[in-house]
Amino acid sequence: MKKVVKFGGSSLASAEQFKKVGDIVRSDKSRKYVVPSAPGKRFGADTKVTDMLYQTYALAEAGKDFSSELQAIKERYNEIIKGLKLNMTLDAEFETIAEMFRSKAGSDYAASRGEYLNGKIMANYLGFEFIDAAEVIFFDEEGNFDAEKTNNILSVRLGKVDNAVVPGFYGSTPDGKVKTFSRGGSDITGSIVSRAARVDLYENWTDVSGFLVADPRIIDNPEPIETITYRELRELSYMGASVLHEDAIFPVRREGIPINIKNTNAPEDPGTWIVESTCQKSKYVITGIAGKKGFCSVNIDKAKMNSEIGFCRKVLGVFEDNGISIEHMPSGIDTMTVFVHQDEFMDKEQQVVSGIHRMTHPDSIDIEADLALIAVVGRGMRSTRGTAGRIFASLAHANINVKMIDQGSSELNIIIGVTNSDFEAAIKAIYDIFVSASL
Ligand code: ASP
Repeated sequence: MKKVVKFGGSSLASAEQFKKVGDIVRSDKSRKYVVPSAPGKRFGADTKVTDMLYQTYALAEAGKDFSSELQAIKERYNEIIKGLKLNMTLDAEFETIAEMFRSKAGSDYAASRGEYLNGKIMANYLGFEFIDAAEVIFFDEEGNFDAEKTNNILSVRLGKVDNAVVPGFYGSTPDGKVKTFSRGGSDITGSIVSRAARVDLYENWTDVSGFLVADPRIIDNPEPIETITYRELRELSYMGASVLHEDAIFPVRREGIPINIKNTNAPEDPGTWIVESTCQKSKYVITGIAGKKGFCSVNIDKAKMNSEIGFCRKVLGVFEDNGISIEHMPSGIDTMTVFVHQDEFMDKEQQVVSGIHRMTHPDSIDIEADLALIAVVGRGMRSTRGTAGRIFASLAHANINVKMIDQGSSELNIIIGVTNSDFEAAIKAIYDIFVSASL
């Protein structure tokens, strides 16, 4: 059995957290490859080292003095080194970093140093080999991740070592420059390393015991999700449930490697298993509920719209020409509604309306703002009668007016549109009927 273990920033924010990580890695010999993030927040008002690096580099770029800011970052690391009683110094590294900042090496380089330095400490602490991600993770000329080149080189490199630390979040471009993934990207590195090392399991260690059925800011102590499929996770993440970076599932998914989200502060908790498919039924018919506020609906009315060939294409073309992406598109015989993100749409509203008038000559166009979309996701829905009925009965009992319903053909999710002001109450009602009622 071989595992990759990725630790998030809060799991590595201090020497105390590092010790927990050390215990976790040492307690299981199959935990062979470690992917660390940069030190995160130690307490609520703290600043992540990645953010400190961006801020410090902004000073360097503006030609200002950044020495005390860089020193503050160094102290974060020194505190960890001292707390772990390690016999090492990062003086030489910090000299190089200061030089690179002065020569304006770029904000990606700057941000990547958070993981790089934490990787150095981790390798020293565990006695594992350090592999610089810039030597094994590659982007192409356009800045897109180069999956095949990376997999070829990284798998050979990992094949030569029993254990290694590969810092998360960055790689390099063909001209040798450091480039990062988007924020939270160490999750992607963990997945890439898992694929290249052909491990049995990708453990992703964070500060929560996995995914929860609903957002804890809305539901008190929501139940954890034990097992979720990649497809369910995509639906929930898209709708705002964030524990894992969206792109982190692709490299492991193609190899059928499961991901286990675990809690560094409660290592005994089973966490959430993310798998390709499973015969395990989720406990509550639904797997999770997530949602987002801030949508607008554009309702277009035209008698006999249904028999006008090309009507939808013309409407959608107007959104496309204005660079607005579309979320949902429920339609009737004489009506068609397009859901869009309010912030993307607002500035271009009148262009879109006049564009639709010009292209399709509708009877009327009506815009409604401040809407929320809620996704109720569950692989169990396909084989359970009455799921939609229970959702809408619960919303009716809570006096919530449903503005839109959309069930994907996969029967994996039901999307419900409500007003922003009904958003929290709607999630509570759905949670109660499926989860609280069956506890
Ligand atoms: N340290 C980076 C960030 O704060 C990447 C990561 O933690 O995954 O976004």
